[in-house]
Amino acid sequence: MKVLVINCGSSSLKYQLIDMQNEELLAIGLAERIGIDDSFLTHETIGKEKVVIREDLKDHKITLGIVMNALTNPEYGVIKSMDEISATGHRVVHGGEEFTSSVLITDKVISEVERCANLAPLHNPPNLMGIYAAKELLPDVPMVAVFDTAFHQTMPPEAYIYALPYEWYEKHGVRRYGFHGTSHMYVAYRAAEILEKPIEDLKIITCHIGNGVSITAVDGGKSVDTSMGLTPLEGLVMGTRCGDIDPAIVPFVGQREDLSHQELDNFMNKKSGLLGVSGISNDLRDIMEAAEGNNYRAKLALDIYSRRIKRYIAVYAAMMGGLDVIVFTAGVGENAIDVRKDSCSGLEFLGIKIDDEKNNTRGKETIISSDDSKVTVMVVPTNEELAIARDTKNIVEK
Ligand code: AMP
Repeated sequence: MKVLVINCGSSSLKYQLIDMQNEELLAIGLAERIGIDDSFLTHETIGKEKVVIREDLKDHKITLGIVMNALTNPEYGVIKSMDEISATGHRVVHGGEEFTSSVLITDKVISEVERCANLAPLHNPPNLMGIYAAKELLPDVPMVAVFDTAFHQTMPPEAYIYALPYEWYEKHGVRRYGFHGTSHMYVAYRAAEILEKPIEDLKIITCHIGNGVSITAVDGGKSVDTSMGLTPLEGLVMGTRCGDIDPAIVPFVGQREDLSHQELDNFMNKKSGLLGVSGISNDLRDIMEAAEGNNYRAKLALDIYSRRIKRYIAVYAAMMGGLDVIVFTAGVGENAIDVRKDSCSGLEFLGIKIDDEKNNTRGKETIISSDDSKVTVMVVPTNEELAIARDTKNIVEK
C-alpha cells in the first residue's frame, strides 16, 4: 500500500510518498511560494537526482496536480500512475475537542475541521486546502486526517483548564489543546520500542525542540500534560515566540506603545523568543555562533532557552511523580549538543546524568545518559510523516 502524506501551509505543500509494505520512503518534495510570484516545487525520488520544477503554483489544487505529474513523470517520477496510491494522509493542526484520534475524512469531518478553524486561523485553513485539492483531483482515493492536537486529548481537566472564568471554556473553547502531538507520540513510542520496555510502564518526557518548541509528559503512553496551550504560543522559548510570560505585560506594553491586539499578537509570535532577546536571528545556529563570539544578548537568549526547558522537565517529573525517560527530538533536540547538556545540568538530583561522550551525537537514535543515570536520556529523530502514513494505513485498512 502506497500512502501520500500531505502537509499544507498557507504558501507551501510538503509531501512524502511512502510504501507501507516496508515503510520505505519513495519520494519527497516541497512546493514553496504558492499563490506568490516565483513559486517552485522541489521533488526528489529517492535514489534519483533532485529536480526543481518552476511553475506558476497559483493555488494548492494546481500545486497538487503538479506534484502528481512529478510523481508519475517517466524520468524523475516513482510511480506509473496515481492509481498506485491507496490513500492520502493529511496533517491537520487543530482538531479541537472533536477529534481524539485520526479519522477517515468524510464531508462531516470536513465541516468539523472547518469549525475548528476559528481556534487555528493560521493553520487549519491551509490544511483544508490540501484536503479540498485531494478530494477533487483524487476523488476515489480515501483520505485520512491526522491532528496535531489529538494525542493530547487524554490530558485531565486540571491540566487543560486555565484558571480563568470557566464560561470562557464553555463559550469559546478556551483551554489547553497542545500541539506537535504526532511527534510526541511517535518519539515516545519509538523510545519504548528501542528500550524494549512496555510503554504502559514508563514515565516519559518528550522534548520537541525545533523552531516551534513543546514538551509533553507522557505517562503510560498517554499525554498527561503539555506546554503549548490554546495556541502554539505558550510554554517554551521558541525561534520567534515568547512562550510563558506574565499576561499583564500585554496590556501594559500595549498601552505604552499604543499597539493594537493584532500588533501585540504579532510581537509575541513573530518578534520574540530567540530573535527578540538576541536581536540577531530566530535560528539557534546563528545565536550559538554569536554567543561564541561573546555577544551578551546571544548568550542571554541561550541561557533563557535552556533554563525554560529545564524548568519544564523538572515540573513534569514532579507532576508524574517520577521519571524514566527523557527524549530530545526535532531540529535543535536532535542536533544541538550544548542545549541538551545545559537543559539537563543541575537535574542530577532527579537522577538525570548526561554522558558528554555519548551526547556528542547528531540526528541519530542514541542513548546519551551515563550508564549509572537513573533516567535514560535519548535522542530520537522525529518522523511525523511516517506516523501520519501509519495512521492512514490502519484507518483505511479497517
Ligand atoms: P525544525 O523546526 O525541527 O526544523 O528545527 C529548526 C531549528 O533547528 C532551527 O532553529 C535550527 O537552528 C535548529 N538546528 C538545525 N540543525 C542544527 C544544528 N546542527 N545545531 C543546532 N541547531 C540546529
